[in-house]
Amino acid sequence: MFSIKQNAVWKNWSESVVAKPKRIVRPKTLGQLIALVKECRENNCTLRVVGAGHSFTPLAATDEVLVSLDHLNGIDAIDHENRLVTFWAGTRLKDVSRLLDERGYALENLGDINEQSIAGAISTGTHGTGIRFQSIPNQVEKLTLLTAHGELLEIGREQNDAYFEAARVSLGMLGIIVKVTLKVVPQYVLFAKNYRLSLEEGFQQLNALKEANRNVEFFWFPYTDVIQVKTLNEADEKAASFSNRFMSKVVMENGLFYLLSEMSRNAPKTAKLVSQISAWGVPVGESYNKSHLQYATPRLVKFNEMEYAVPEEHMEAVIRELDDMLQKQNIAVHFPVECRYVKGDSIWLSPSYERDSAYIGIHMYKGMELHHYFDAAEEIFLHYNGRPHWGKMHSLTYDQLKQLYPKMDAFLAIRSELDPFGLFLNGYLRSIFHI
Ligand SMILES: Cc1cc2nc3c(=O)[nH]c(=O)nc-3n(C[C@H](O)[C@H](O)[C@H](O)COP(=O)(O)OP(=O)(O)OC[C@H]3O[C@@H](n4cnc5c(N)ncnc54)[C@H](O)[C@@H]3O)c2cc1C
Repeated sequence: MFSIKQNAVWKNWSESVVAKPKRIVRPKTLGQLIALVKECRENNCTLRVVGAGHSFTPLAATDEVLVSLDHLNGIDAIDHENRLVTFWAGTRLKDVSRLLDERGYALENLGDINEQSIAGAISTGTHGTGIRFQSIPNQVEKLTLLTAHGELLEIGREQNDAYFEAARVSLGMLGIIVKVTLKVVPQYVLFAKNYRLSLEEGFQQLNALKEANRNVEFFWFPYTDVIQVKTLNEADEKAASFSNRFMSKVVMENGLFYLLSEMSRNAPKTAKLVSQISAWGVPVGESYNKSHLQYATPRLVKFNEMEYAVPEEHMEAVIRELDDMLQKQNIAVHFPVECRYVKGDSIWLSPSYERDSAYIGIHMYKGMELHHYFDAAEEIFLHYNGRPHWGKMHSLTYDQLKQLYPKMDAFLAIRSELDPFGLFLNGYLRSIFHI
C-alpha cells in the first residue's frame, strides 16, 4: 500500500518554501509508483517529486501531489568488473556512502553535507570542490526514468547522448528518476587540513592551492581580512587509524556559531562584530579519515543560500567586489562566503557547462533579512556571467537563463517530448522556463 498523507504541510530544510499538497505519497514499490503516475495522468493532476527537501528554491513545491521515494532506497545491482553500482533513487547520500564503504568502494567526490537523496542531488547539479573533479551528476553512468507516459526509459552514457546530457540535471522535469547507476572508485583515505590565512595571502596562493590540493575550499568572513582554508588530499590507508578528535570543524558547523547567529538576528547591528569574532575563532586542525567521513559535516545552524558558478579565473575579482559592496552598503551579514572549484562538464543545465568554475555561495542566517544582500551580490555574479545553482536562491527569468544556458531550448524540446502533458511541472518551473 502507498503511504499517503492528505492535506499536509510540506516545508523545505530552511523553511523558506512552504506548500500544501493535496497528497504526499510514499510508494513502497516501483509498481505503486507507476500506478500513481498513470492515475495522475488520467485525473489530469500534476505531480512533483521531492528528495530530502534540501533545495532553497520552490522546485518541489506543489498544491497537488508530492511524491517521495524514501521507501525506494538501497542498492539494486553491482557490477564489480566495471565498478558500477545501481541505487534506488530515494537513497540518501549518507546511505550511498555507507553502503559503498561496506563493499570497499567510495564516490570520487561529494559536497559538504550528505543528507540529500541521490536523485535530488544530481537533479540540481550538486557539487563538491576540486578543480579536477566534476559535479556529482557526472558520476552517473546510467539512470532509469519513469516518464509521464508511465514507461521506464533507460538513459546512459552509451545509449543516447542527447537524453543523457538533458536528464542528469533536469530538476524533476523530464520524469521521475527511479534508479541511478554510479561509477565508483576503491575506498580511500583523505587527510584534511583546516587553517587560517589573510584574504590577500589567500589571493596570492589561490592558483597554487587549487592546483596542489585534491580538494580545496575556503570561507571568507565578511568585514574581515580572514579566510579559513580547508584542503583534502589522499593519504595512506594506515593513517586512517589516526583519530580526528583534534580536528575542529568549520565555523558554520559549531554550536557557538549558533549562539552568535541568534545575537546577530536579534540585533542585526552586531552582525559585523559577529563575523569578526567568528573569523578570530576559526578552528584549525588536521585529521585523517575515510573519504566520505571527511567531505560531509552536519549543519547545525540553519540559513538560506544563493550560489553562483562563474568562470574559475574570476574567483578573486568576485570576492573583491563582494567586499567593496558590503563596505559601501553596510549590510547585516555574519555568515562566511563559501568558495569552491569545480571542473567543467557537458551536461546541458549544469552551472559548470563547458567551463571550469568557481562556485561562490553566500548565506544569510534563517530569519534575517536577505534580499538586500542577495540582490546586490547577484548583480556582481551576473556581471561575471555567473550561472545560478538550481537548488539555491536566485531571481533569474527565462530570458536571462536562456542567455546563460546555450542548450536551454534543446533541453525544453526533450521535456516537451517526454512530458507533453506538463504532468511534472509546477508554477515556479512554468514561470522560470516560460512553459
Ligand atoms: C545545508 C545544505 C548544504 C548543501 N550543500 C551543498 C553542497 O555542498 N553542494 C551543492 O551543490 N549543493 C548543496 N546544497 C544544495 C542541495 O544539494 C541541492 O539543493 C539538492 O538538490 C538537494 O537534494 P534533495 O535530495 O534534498 O532534493 P530536493 O531538494 O528534494 O529536490 C531537488 C530537485 O530534485 C528533484 N528530484 C528529487 N528526487 C527526484 C527523482 N527521484 N526524480 C526526479 N527528480 C527528482 C526535485 O523535483 C527537485 O527538482 C546544500 C543544501 C543544504 C540545505
